[in-house]
Amino acid sequence: MMTEPPELRKKLLVLDLDETLMLATETPLSFRQPDFQHSGFFVYERPLVRDFLHFAQITFEIGVWTSSTALYALPIVDFLFGNSRELAFVWCRERCSLKYSHEMMEHYYIKPFRKLKRKGYNLETVLAVDDSPHKHVANYGNLVRIREYDGSLADRELLFLQQYLASIKDVANVRALEKRWWRDGFS
Ligand SMILES: [Mg+2]
Repeated sequence: MMTEPPELRKKLLVLDLDETLMLATETPLSFRQPDFQHSGFFVYERPLVRDFLHFAQITFEIGVWTSSTALYALPIVDFLFGNSRELAFVWCRERCSLKYSHEMMEHYYIKPFRKLKRKGYNLETVLAVDDSPHKHVANYGNLVRIREYDGSLADRELLFLQQYLASIKDVANVRALEKRWWRDGFS
C-alpha cells in the first residue's frame, strides 16, 4: 500500500468557537437577527463562516476545541458543522487545563497541545485558530490569532484567514513560521 509523503498529508486545524467562528449573547443584538438560539443564547455566525468551513474541511483535518462546557458548545458545533462525524474531535472545557495568572490573580483555561501530541499528532503540522492567545501559551508556534468577533456584518476576518491558511497549508513545519503578523498582508 502506498503511503502519502508527510508533506501531502492534511494538517490538523484546531478551531475555537466563541468570538472566532460565531458570537453568542444573552441579549439579542439590535442590528441583526440571530442565526440560531439555544439555552437562552442568541448565536450569530461570523460572516463567511460557511465558506470558510467548506474550505477548511477540504484542506485540513478539523478539530474543535473550546473552553466552554459541552452542554453549551455541542449544539453550536452541530449547527455550524451539521454532521460532526466529519470532525476529528470536539473537545470542550474538560479537556482544557487550568493555569494561574499572577497578573490577573485568577485561574484561566488553556488548551495544551501536548494532549494532541499524546494522541499521535505531530505538532509541526497542527494549526490553531483562536481569538484568545492566552489559551495557547503552551503551544509554541501553532497559533494563528484571529480578531475577536463582535457581531459586525462587515467583518471579513474569515476571508483573510482562508487566504492565509491556503498560503501555508503545504509548509512542512508550521511552528517555524512567524505568524504573529499574518494579518498585515490583508486589509
Ligand atoms: Mg474564543
